[in-house]
Amino acid sequence: MGSVQTRTASHEATPAPAILAAFEAAKGFMPVDEGLALYAAASEAGRLGLPLLEIGSYCGRSTILLADAARAAGVTALTVDHHRGSEEQQPGWDYHDPQTVDPELGVMDTLPAFRRTLHRAGLEDHVVALVGRSPRVAALWGTPLAFVFVDGGHTDEHATADYEGWAPHLAEGGLLVIHDVFPDPVDEFTGQAPYRVYLRARASGAFTEVSATGSLRVLRRTGPGL
Ligand code: SAH
Ligand code: MG
Repeated sequence: MGSVQTRTASHEATPAPAILAAFEAAKGFMPVDEGLALYAAASEAGRLGLPLLEIGSYCGRSTILLADAARAAGVTALTVDHHRGSEEQQPGWDYHDPQTVDPELGVMDTLPAFRRTLHRAGLEDHVVALVGRSPRVAALWGTPLAFVFVDGGHTDEHATADYEGWAPHLAEGGLLVIHDVFPDPVDEFTGQAPYRVYLRARASGAFTEVSATGSLRVLRRTGPGL
């Protein structure tokens, strides 16, 4: 893993202070160091002139960074989320936030917070939100992508479906980014399914690892094999 770097190189794009502040103020599950790595990767991938895609947006925290990278590159950020929350975000579970529950229906709905986040950051025009289950959207998809960010459900069923449904749409030279990769079971909070997907991507022969920051892994599609 000699090519793996864990710090930000000076040539990498960094978000403007207002964007970083909006990211830090947004509700969600991504620390700043991983956000900076995500932004750098999205900015680089945007140079391919193809859309950037995120699976798992929640309240739009990471989306701010993808949207701003898309804006700068003149491409669109696509987001896929049913906005009903992952297993561990449901009432009674560790990652539940009562503010995400629709008071009328009594079920989670993070779409209003997501939209407020992007509106406040001035980035709404650069995002197309696809509201639905990831495999159902992927089954209809046909456009090549510059960037696929896997941050949806953490069960093997969901993480595997996200990889199988979206990674084949990555253009050559595009970046696959996987969040919550915990090689050591001691560190994991929500399971090791993303780690298993990461191992699978590496074993496919279709990717080369670019960087590792916290639990964020960036892989470049360098060949066929998916
Ligand atoms: N990227 C976000 C965190 C995402 S949390 C941040 O920066 O804060 C995971 C999200 O994945 C949740 O909003 C949940 O609704 C969504 N999700 C889980 N499984 C999904 C599936 N199968 N299809 C679509 N969205 C899913
Ligand atoms: Mg995550």
